[in-house]
Amino acid sequence: MTPDLFELVRDSVVAWDDQGVIRAWNPAAAILYGWTTEQAIGAPVETLLGPIPSDRAEAVIERHTLDGRRIVVEATWARRPGETLEIGRDVTAQRSVEDQLKRSELRYSSLFQAMAAAFWELDFSPVGGLLRELREQGVIDIPRHFKTHPEFVREMMRRTRVVDVNDTTLAMFGVGHRDHLASSVEPYWPEASSPVYAAAVAAAIGRQTHYMTETRLRRQDGTEFDALFTAAFPHEGLAQGALLVGVIDISERLTAQADLRRLRDDFAHAARVSMLGELAASIAHEVNQPLAAITTNAAASLRWLSRDEPDVSRVIDLTSNIRADAQRAADVIARVRAMASKQSAAHETLAIRQIIDETLLFLRDELQGRDARVEVSAEPLSVRGDRTQLQQVLVNLIINAAQAALPGRGSLIRITAALCGDEVEVRVADNGLGLSVEPDSLFTSFYSTKPEGMGLGLPICRSIVEAHGGRIHAENDSAGGAVFVIRLPGEPAYTKV
Ligand code: ADP
Repeated sequence: MTPDLFELVRDSVVAWDDQGVIRAWNPAAAILYGWTTEQAIGAPVETLLGPIPSDRAEAVIERHTLDGRRIVVEATWARRPGETLEIGRDVTAQRSVEDQLKRSELRYSSLFQAMAAAFWELDFSPVGGLLRELREQGVIDIPRHFKTHPEFVREMMRRTRVVDVNDTTLAMFGVGHRDHLASSVEPYWPEASSPVYAAAVAAAIGRQTHYMTETRLRRQDGTEFDALFTAAFPHEGLAQGALLVGVIDISERLTAQADLRRLRDDFAHAARVSMLGELAASIAHEVNQPLAAITTNAAASLRWLSRDEPDVSRVIDLTSNIRADAQRAADVIARVRAMASKQSAAHETLAIRQIIDETLLFLRDELQGRDARVEVSAEPLSVRGDRTQLQQVLVNLIINAAQAALPGRGSLIRITAALCGDEVEVRVADNGLGLSVEPDSLFTSFYSTKPEGMGLGLPICRSIVEAHGGRIHAENDSAGGAVFVIRLPGEPAYTKV
């Protein structure tokens, strides 16, 4: 190559002699490295380009330009006695893309392996064929077709091939060895979870980028577990049918939640039962009254019947009284049983006035015994909730109010129910001692100023009210005494009756 030809080539051309002194430096070399031809000629090659491997004919090497930039050069050397010629091509940009790719691949594969989630790489392309057939058959609403043809969904699962999984998958799904992994995803989906799989496919067809939900999946041994299921549909991958699925085992979290719920129910149950002990006397009285009436009426009936001429019409009257009294007693028992039984909360529409009245009926003797007077002013409102639980809240607040009476003075308890914004507000106010501590602290467990008190009443009230989506707080009444305020949320169901 003559020097003028060097000037035309795009690659850098550099030549040096046996002493390493640069003899040729074309314009492309000047552009690449930054030194002009004049500056380079006569300079030692290793000063400008760094060490040159003498035993190689070509190599990809890192160099630095005049202004300190790092570049990657693919170099080829031709040698003859007294002279070396180097042709170089700048591959920096290409290399950095390759590096990035390699790095992201590495990151991906270490994520794939190391995460606590199970990852599945799936090949979805055979399902694509199935879906195409469906369309050719004229099925337009494909998600609907999934709903009406569960066997089609199972077939899609059978055709979804497992390409790769990480080690977490093997552990989570109880697969002893990679070779034992099924070739399709079908065995890992319980029948009941089919709609979730169908919804994921529908999301992919609908061009969403991902789909996430909670579902149940099946381990290799047939047992099931609760899982958070995520499917990603990368647009580039989808064309080739690639699908990435992540699974997190959430069974422990769900178990913990269930335990917590059970604990709360047990707690509320224990409190209800202990309160029943306190109220046993008034319950006995409630039941005793109708029983006494039944005994009297039955004795009278017998007398009328044992006359020479039995008075049937009187006996009919007495018998219907007996029936009414027996019903009253049965109602009381049923109410008590509902309070003691560990039913979880039922939600029905309840007239707030009725809740208050029933509670007061329940407490009648207790309140009389304490010389407590109750005034009720309730707007005709209804709330949604559990009758027994809401009554339990009121029982607690009313007994507390009565117990707070100042010595030697009967208490006056005022109960009001009114609409406040779109919430239903129930207030239980008394003229007693008032609150001597920060009101909020009363709602923390085991705070009590009573010799026999457990300090559980108010915390339970709060958990019941909150379970109903409401709030409860206490404050001192400006007229003396304490007031407890319950607010239940104003949904459309909380309407006036
Ligand atoms: P306990 O039944 O053990 O008293 P509670 O949770 O029902 O438990 O109440 C906790 C404490 O809150 C009571 O011991 C009392 O000091 C205070 N308290 C509750 N209601 C009133 C009230 N109406 N007036 C004054 N203090 C009250």
